Amino acid sequence: MLPEHCSIREKGVDCPMPPEFIISVKVKDDEYMVGVTCDGHKKSFMDKLGILQKEGKVPNGTISFTGLKAVGTDCIRMDPNDLIQL
Ligand SMILES: [Zn+2]
Repeated sequence: MLPEHCSIREKGVDCPMPPEFIISVKVKDDEYMVGVTCDGHKKSFMDKLGILQKEGKVPNGTISFTGLKAVGTDCIRMDPNDLIQL
């Protein structure tokens, strides 16, 4: 289950925007999901992630963004029974 809003917290306030990208770090054959972000926080997230990697808090691999647009937040909140209707 994905979070319903962006993982960024700015000045103590959680960003209320719906997530548009899943951020993951790829290390060799493993991929770690580190959070989700809205479009506006993509760069901030990347900068922060770079710092966390330097501090050793996040695995030092390749940062990748996967767009969520195809899924859409409405689908995530949808009743599971609706999703399997053909
Ligand atoms: Zn945001």
